[in-house]
Amino acid sequence: MATPRLEIDLNKIHENTRKLVTLLSEYGISVTGVTKVSLGSREIANAMLQAGANSLGDSRIENIQSMRCDEMMKDVTMTLIRSPMISQVKQVVMYADSSFNTEIKIIRQLSNEAQKQGRNHQVILMVELGDLREGIMPDDLVAIVEEILGLPNIVLKGIGTNLACRSGVSPDATKMAILSELADRIEATFGLKLDLVSGGNSANINWVLSNPDTNTGRVNNLRLGEAILLGCETLHSRPINGLHPNAITLVAEVIEIKFKPSQPSGDIAQTAFGEAAPVIDRGSINQAILAIGRQDIDPCGLRAPAGIKILGASSDHLIVESVDDDLFVGQELTFQVNYSALVRAMTSPFVSRNFICRYDASSASQPSLES
Ligand SMILES: *Cc1c(COP(=O)(O)O)cnc(C)c1O
Repeated sequence: MATPRLEIDLNKIHENTRKLVTLLSEYGISVTGVTKVSLGSREIANAMLQAGANSLGDSRIENIQSMRCDEMMKDVTMTLIRSPMISQVKQVVMYADSSFNTEIKIIRQLSNEAQKQGRNHQVILMVELGDLREGIMPDDLVAIVEEILGLPNIVLKGIGTNLACRSGVSPDATKMAILSELADRIEATFGLKLDLVSGGNSANINWVLSNPDTNTGRVNNLRLGEAILLGCETLHSRPINGLHPNAITLVAEVIEIKFKPSQPSGDIAQTAFGEAAPVIDRGSINQAILAIGRQDIDPCGLRAPAGIKILGASSDHLIVESVDDDLFVGQELTFQVNYSALVRAMTSPFVSRNFICRYDASSASQPSLES
């Protein structure tokens, strides 16, 4: 089998999705399965949908376009979860049902394009609640809504927020209450009903679980990628109870094994990737090299199997130490990946994908919530 590769267990992804969908449905919250990490993998998207995700979200219109062209997914609700580029509004209106937006200039372009194509495009306005990534300042929201309501072929589907990505701001009860209030304020001001109040991403799981009375206010949707694929919440990278942490693993191949000094020799200057870390002399060690590097993974995001310690990485080489001396050239080693390593591995053309599928991928989906 081709190496390096990602081993992707669709059954575990299906089970993780199903558990999250079931859990969140008790709070009246639907799940949008986020596919961006996998470059819009149809296999992963399908597993999420079959397990009850009610829609798909991706940050790249190219991924949405390729999923849309799959016959099985032509009617699935798909949302562009990054603000559209003006240079791409044509594709956005063509392939996405809705998009997250923060700029009226872009929404006007979406309106023009939607009129040309004879379609409606749904807009979800993102609100800035302190993480300082995308979002309209809360005080400016009402004015923007007013303008959108007058734009032909644009439908205001709802509002949302995204926290914990740039600055690590927690999506806690305070932040979610502000989002709920904003939803109420828009509805009261304009006499309308917002379909969607999207509270955030995998970092919101803690807030949901810590809610004793299943009262999550107006929030009725979360967009989940990492929680489904890696089985963890993202505020503290803790595994979520009952979810598979290892639905996706990375396999790489040993191309060199030598007994080498632990400490480099000679005058030490910079490495290919900045300052060299100081090394303690531990005498000679069993050093092995795997044929994978920073072009394919984030070495800090790998967890090595027992008995193996990651020492360093360059573009194409991952250097490890083995406590035993039973490694062999050509051997495959399996690593756990975090989000940072996963996104790079999924994006590298040198890393192949092996899908493991034991569930019936053709069976009817069972969406548990409308939104
Ligand atoms: C990536 C992204 C998500 C999903 O984040 P996870 O941490 O993978 O759940 C949700 N919303 C937006 C806007 C995103 O960009």
